[in-house]
Amino acid sequence: MATAGSGERWSLAGATALVTGGSKGIGHAIVEELAAFGARVHTCSRNAAELEECRRRWEEKGLTVTVSVCDVGVRADREKLMDTVRDTFAGKLDILVNNAAQLISKPAMEFTAEDYSRLMATNLESCFHLSQLAHPLLLNTSIAGGGSIVHISSIASVMALPELTLYSIAKGGMNQLTRSLAAEWARDNVRVNCVAPGLIETDMSKGVGKETLEKYEQKIPLRRRGQPAEVASVVSFLCTPAASYVTGQVVYVDGGGTISA
Ligand code: NAP
Repeated sequence: MATAGSGERWSLAGATALVTGGSKGIGHAIVEELAAFGARVHTCSRNAAELEECRRRWEEKGLTVTVSVCDVGVRADREKLMDTVRDTFAGKLDILVNNAAQLISKPAMEFTAEDYSRLMATNLESCFHLSQLAHPLLLNTSIAGGGSIVHISSIASVMALPELTLYSIAKGGMNQLTRSLAAEWARDNVRVNCVAPGLIETDMSKGVGKETLEKYEQKIPLRRRGQPAEVASVVSFLCTPAASYVTGQVVYVDGGGTISA
C-alpha cells in the first residue's frame, strides 16, 4: 500500500468516472474536481445544448470530459448511458457518482401517483440500477483502494423538512442503499459511500420555499449556505486511494446543520 505523503494516495490519475447530472450545480463541481484530480470523466443530463456548452468550456480548461444525453429516470436511457460509458472507457469504470435528482415540494396530501413514480424513478431507482449496471465495469478497476460509488443524498434523508416527503423518502433510501451495497460489494473491491449535503447554493435549492430556507439557514452553525465545490471536494476524497478504508458511510457536508440543537 502507498504510504502517507505519497502523491498517488491523493490522485485519480488514470481513473475513469461517470457523474450523473453534471451540467449544473453540485454535479458540475464534482465533474471539475474529479477531472482536476486526473480522472477522465463522462457526465450526462437531459439538455443536449447545455451539456455541449459545458463540454466546450471544460475542453478550454484542459479537462477531459465526455457527455451524453440521458434521463436517469428512464430505464432504457440508463442502459444506453452505461453502454456509452463502456465504449468510452474500454470496459473499465473506477468511479460512479449518482448525483442527478429532482425536487418536488408539496404538502404530503397533494402528491400524485405520477409525482411518486417520477421522483422515485429519478432519485432512487436510478441509483440502484446504475450501480447494478456499473458493477461489472467497476470490477475492472485499476485504482489502489478499489472502485468507488458515491451517492449524493441530502440532510433531508434524516431531517423532516417541510413539504419534502417524497424527496426525503428517496434520500433516506439512498443512505441505506449505500450501507447494503457497501457490505455486499466489499468482497469485490468496490467501496460505496454517500455524501449528504445541507443547504448548497444551486438552482435546486432555489426551488425550496424562501421561508424554509431562511429559517434553516439560521440554524446552521457555520451561518451560511455551502458552495458546490465544498461538496465536490468530499466526494473526490472518497474516490481517492486515500479513502481506501472508508466504505458504507454517510458523510454530512452541511456546515454542522444536522448536529445543531
Ligand atoms: P441542480 O442544480 O438542479 O442540478 C441537477 C443536475 O442534474 C443538472 O445537471 C440537471 O440537468 C441534472 N438532472 C436533473 N434531473 C435529471 C434526470 N432525470 N436525468 C439526468 N439528469 C438530470 O441540483 P443540485 O442542487 O446540484 O443537486 C445535485 C444533487 O445534490 C441532487 O442529488 C440533490 O438532491 C442533492 N442535494 C442538493 C442540495 C442543495 O441544497 N442544492 C442539498 C442536498 C442535496 P437537467 O435538468 O438539464 O437534466
